[in-house]
Amino acid sequence: MEGKERESIVDHKQQGVEKVQKKNKWIKIGAAALMLGLLLVGSVTARAIYEYRHVEIEVTPVSAEILQGEEVPEFQAEAVCTEPDKEANILNTDSGFKVSDLVSELNEGKDYTLACGVDNNVEGAYAITVNLTDEFMQRLSEEWNGRVTITMRTGQLTVKNKIGEWEDNRFRRWDGSYITSDFLEYDGDTYYFNSEGEMVTDVQQIGIMQYTFDEDGKLLSKECKIDPDKPMMALTFDDGPGEYTAELLAVLEKYNAHATFFMLGQKVSGREAEIQKMLELGCEIGNHSYSHPQLSKLSADAVKNQIGSTNDLLKGVAGVSATVMRPPYGDYAGQAAANVKLPIILWNVDTLDWKTRDAQQTIANVKTRADDGDIVLMHDIHKPTVDAASELIPYLISEGYQLVTVSELAQARGASLEPGKVYTDFNR
Ligand code: ZN
Repeated sequence: MEGKERESIVDHKQQGVEKVQKKNKWIKIGAAALMLGLLLVGSVTARAIYEYRHVEIEVTPVSAEILQGEEVPEFQAEAVCTEPDKEANILNTDSGFKVSDLVSELNEGKDYTLACGVDNNVEGAYAITVNLTDEFMQRLSEEWNGRVTITMRTGQLTVKNKIGEWEDNRFRRWDGSYITSDFLEYDGDTYYFNSEGEMVTDVQQIGIMQYTFDEDGKLLSKECKIDPDKPMMALTFDDGPGEYTAELLAVLEKYNAHATFFMLGQKVSGREAEIQKMLELGCEIGNHSYSHPQLSKLSADAVKNQIGSTNDLLKGVAGVSATVMRPPYGDYAGQAAANVKLPIILWNVDTLDWKTRDAQQTIANVKTRADDGDIVLMHDIHKPTVDAASELIPYLISEGYQLVTVSELAQARGASLEPGKVYTDFNR
């Protein structure tokens, strides 16, 4: 029962107060207590304190939850007496009406109404309040004057966001839009809607993934399926992981695209979830040294240390170490090539994203230069780069490119990646 608030304690009524006034010896106490009570609880809540406060009963509306657009349910409330000997507590000696009878009466929903100013089309939490009937107020103030205190609490009706609803083979979201080119998790099953918003069935190639759906559109299985005869490209992201990496991964996931991340060992800590997500999505984990030094200026041991420590960290987090490496600044001279023990991956399309920090320029650089077999250099530590990638990924797919990892690109082109060897592209 969350969201309950003490609202008011009511057994006041003008007639009741008049009765009190007849009893002179109580008048001062009653008035003083009433004043004190009003001061304490303020103007919204009302509390009257009577000469006898034998019985306290709490009425609490039962909280409920609905989805947007659903009918507002009938409200209920629970009455509980906090007085321990309520059975013995006779409220009316003539009729034998006991406190327990009053509690039962309240639990049957008599004596009050429950109100809630809910708009069932609008997400949110709405208070359910108790309003005692005039008849009951009169009984409180006359029949049981000072014997019964009713505490009215508030309940809560929560209107939860709804995903939407089916409309034949389309799915209309609650906001009125249709799901297009995206998945839907519904009732434990996964569905996919094409660009026209139609639910798909059978075997579907979406991005580089092949999905199999049953005749009702439910996803049965998926596998990575790259067509070696079709255009492909490897997007690569250096210097991360960073604060925007998760956003980029969400885009890759949505469009069933792969990418290769050349990461710095010193950035691993705190980004474990992102690295694990990369693997889960089928992305490739690459090594970009520990602290981004110019490897050609280091000794053989220092190079081994830069690469080895990063591999250890990646393996600790992901369970696998890097399969490819990219030297910082693309500099693999000196001791670097001989000591990295991994294929050295450079690039043939430099987006200059690190320099321009401008999403539109990054997009333009890729659009004008990108070609089948390219390795594209970007940096996922910059927000404009992730913004650019969010637009480029669906664009490149719509242009017919399969977005693959460096290793997938090499394999599709029949190239074997060898440790210490340098690769810049896999153009045909
Ligand atoms: Zn770098």
